[in-house]
Amino acid sequence: MSEEISRVRTGLPQNLTERFAHRAAMMKPSEIRSLFAVASRPDIVSLAGGMPNLSAFPMEMMATVIEKLVRENGQEALQYGSGQGHPKLRAQICDVMALEGISAHPDDVIVTTGSQQALDLISRIFIDPGDVVLAEAPSYVGALGTFSQYEAQVVHVAMDNDGLIPQALREAISTTRASGRKIKFLYLIPNYQNPAGVLLSPERRTEILEICNKEKIFVVEDNPYGLLGFDRPSPDAMRAEDSENVIYLGSFSKTIAPGFRVGWALVPQALKEKLVIALESSVLCPSNFTQLAISSYLSDQPWRDQIASFTQLYKVRRDAMLESLEKYFPKGATWTKPGGGFYVWATLPEGIDTKALMPKAIVGKVAYVPGTAFYADGFGTREMRLSYCYPTPERIRDGIKSLGHVLETELKVRELN
Ligand code: PMP
Repeated sequence: MSEEISRVRTGLPQNLTERFAHRAAMMKPSEIRSLFAVASRPDIVSLAGGMPNLSAFPMEMMATVIEKLVRENGQEALQYGSGQGHPKLRAQICDVMALEGISAHPDDVIVTTGSQQALDLISRIFIDPGDVVLAEAPSYVGALGTFSQYEAQVVHVAMDNDGLIPQALREAISTTRASGRKIKFLYLIPNYQNPAGVLLSPERRTEILEICNKEKIFVVEDNPYGLLGFDRPSPDAMRAEDSENVIYLGSFSKTIAPGFRVGWALVPQALKEKLVIALESSVLCPSNFTQLAISSYLSDQPWRDQIASFTQLYKVRRDAMLESLEKYFPKGATWTKPGGGFYVWATLPEGIDTKALMPKAIVGKVAYVPGTAFYADGFGTREMRLSYCYPTPERIRDGIKSLGHVLETELKVRELN
């Protein structure tokens, strides 16, 4: 519909923005979204998106599961359901979490439309404009977007190859409080972090929990990648150690498929009712259909084996990326070496601006996400996220080779100037 016709039909002026609520100003497209159009061109090797690779997904088997579900239990599957989520699935979710050391009761689980919705609801419940959320530096772009829509200020806390640094957390808490601001929670992704790919060490998990307990700061543990370890299981979840002060978020997006949009939150009792009320006002209830599809899959199919085939597929791609980085990236560049998940985080020599370099990378037929997307404060100019989850190993090699060439050329030009 043209804008002209739209105006005639609705009677609204062309520029609506002045009528928006104040918070609409915070609703900005993420850098990743604006990249998608270019990155999804077939001639570009996209190391940008974090899409799970469904090439190893048993489609026929899932078609059978879904057909059976509709034929035999369509009355329930296609009906509204409980705001908290289907009881059978909530019990199965407890079995899944037990793999990471969590002992939980299905009553404390709330099924959400992806864990992204849980992030939104938690933000809605906790954040007043100007409140502080502590997050790793760098952190998940989708969470940063949500926090900013609720007008939180994100204070980043430094991390290294063992994850968030406890001493940096202590310092961030004291400087934030000294400036009179309220800290609402610490958001972190302990396993194969998005975007950095690192794993938080077991010792640090304990220390961070102790700090947050003492300082009365909730920990939001976002764990979509925990079961995707390549060579060994990841350490126990932080929630396994602390059931009072940790809000745990899980998801089937990476262990089954994201199209179902099924995730969950495991929360302390005091928070449960508020979360269910918030969820009901957002979607009434999570989809019964997709919850029951997942539930049948979990009860009838070898889902653990399926996760093992996914991790095998990702491991081959991780190896292809790490080998190519060694071979083609310029001297002075460093990168993380993930033991699971989807992402490598690269830091480039001084003078490289990964955002400014993007058009040249596109000419070289490769895309990545510039580091600044993963910070709320403009940091990350010489950093980039490289995802190995989706392209084939050959394409990953081609992409890194081309990117290495773009970087070498850029560095030479800088030397000459
Ligand atoms: N948290 C993290 C760290 C993620 O990487 C993602 C998806 N990329 C999500 C949450 C959201 O996942 P979903 O809504 O599909 O469960």
